[in-house]
Amino acid sequence: MKVAKFGGTSVASAAQIQKVYQIVVSDPERKVVVVSAPGKRSKEDTKVTDLLIHCAEQFLQYGEGNEAFQAVVARYREIAQELGLTEEIVDRISMDLLEILHADRTDANRYMDAIKASGEDNCAKLVAQYFVSQGHEAYYVNPKEAGLFVTDEPGNAQVLPESYDNLKSLRDRSGILVFPGFFGYSLEGKIVTFSRGGSDITGSILAAGVQATLYENFTDVDSVFSANPNMVSQPKEIKTLTYREMRELSYAGFSVFHDEALIPAFRAGIPVCIKNTNNPDAPGTRIVLERKPENGPVSGIASDAGFCSVYVSKYLMNREIGFGRKLLHILEDYGLSYEHTPSGIDDISVIMRQKQIDEGAEAEIVKRIYTELSADNVVVQHDLAMIMIVGEGMRHNVGTTARAASALASAGVNIEMINQGSSEVSMMFGVKGVDEVKAVQALYKEFFEK
Ligand code: ASP
Repeated sequence: MKVAKFGGTSVASAAQIQKVYQIVVSDPERKVVVVSAPGKRSKEDTKVTDLLIHCAEQFLQYGEGNEAFQAVVARYREIAQELGLTEEIVDRISMDLLEILHADRTDANRYMDAIKASGEDNCAKLVAQYFVSQGHEAYYVNPKEAGLFVTDEPGNAQVLPESYDNLKSLRDRSGILVFPGFFGYSLEGKIVTFSRGGSDITGSILAAGVQATLYENFTDVDSVFSANPNMVSQPKEIKTLTYREMRELSYAGFSVFHDEALIPAFRAGIPVCIKNTNNPDAPGTRIVLERKPENGPVSGIASDAGFCSVYVSKYLMNREIGFGRKLLHILEDYGLSYEHTPSGIDDISVIMRQKQIDEGAEAEIVKRIYTELSADNVVVQHDLAMIMIVGEGMRHNVGTTARAASALASAGVNIEMINQGSSEVSMMFGVKGVDEVKAVQALYKEFFEK
């Protein structure tokens, strides 16, 4: 049994959903189908999830938002009409959405989650109905009924372990099961979504739950590329990656697969395959436990911008017990999560995503580090980009750091910091945001074109 997840662009229009249908019925093993909400039909288009967020914001602010509501319904109407489905399903979608839009708005986060989740939920109902209209036995499956329970953190849910056992019973059901991605239910029965792009996580949880032989993740590219195609022209396609490599690459900016989606499949030992809905015969990228080396030490180069670093120095920091804990405790007080902490004898930098901190909090944090930790110097640096080179081969290869550093130097990119060592399969370079593309290009040239 395979679990096939189809992303937003794969269900963005009737024509795309017809491709989904062909793909699913061409392999009787594809029994569980997970869908995102309809995504962009073109570069300029807006995802249904973003339309829904706008709609919820209008209702939260003004108590109404008819235009935004109509924009969502119009997307479903167009798809349903082109698929030859009856108006009835559009009326149902429209009524259900109106009902949740007019529900209790006292808890804005919870309200937002319920609206966002409707994007996937209605898409799954529509896709199931289309399969049935084509003469196939297919059912929409509700995550609550199937037992997909998650932590009660709106917009950031984590799966609860009991879900896996609950989901196992889906194995015994007949027909094709169409499951909405992106959300589950809290134990109190409330809808809670994963973080953005979280339908990949649903697919992975289901694959682990039903003990699938393969988790197929259908998107709109033939494979995972070794670098961002918007930065490097025609980067090499990657045929196989290990779970660890994929996890690091998606964490550091490879948007093709959600960085939290690997763990369920990995723990259950289920291989993952990234494939293209628009070219399903292409072999795609397989993600496995172990692989043979394909391209020297480095498999991929990822980058992500929008980081800041809080640099703290204090003479004899190395001797002061609890310094790191106290520093991180201050950040915890502001609800901040950190990404990396490169450190020296008398200094430490904490790298964080900039968008979590506003100016007021930043000034307070700096003040507290001076007063509570008696730091000698505290400097906040903004607009940093993190460049990550990733590859299992790096463990056994001498000189990768030197090659990377000299490639960056030749391109005139100053390395603000290096983090290497904790992870055996990656190395991270912090550079100024303006140098991000230049850095990726220089590293790509070094590791893939030489
Ligand atoms: N529709 C959701 C989003 O845009 C989840 C997903 O597509 O995976 O974030």
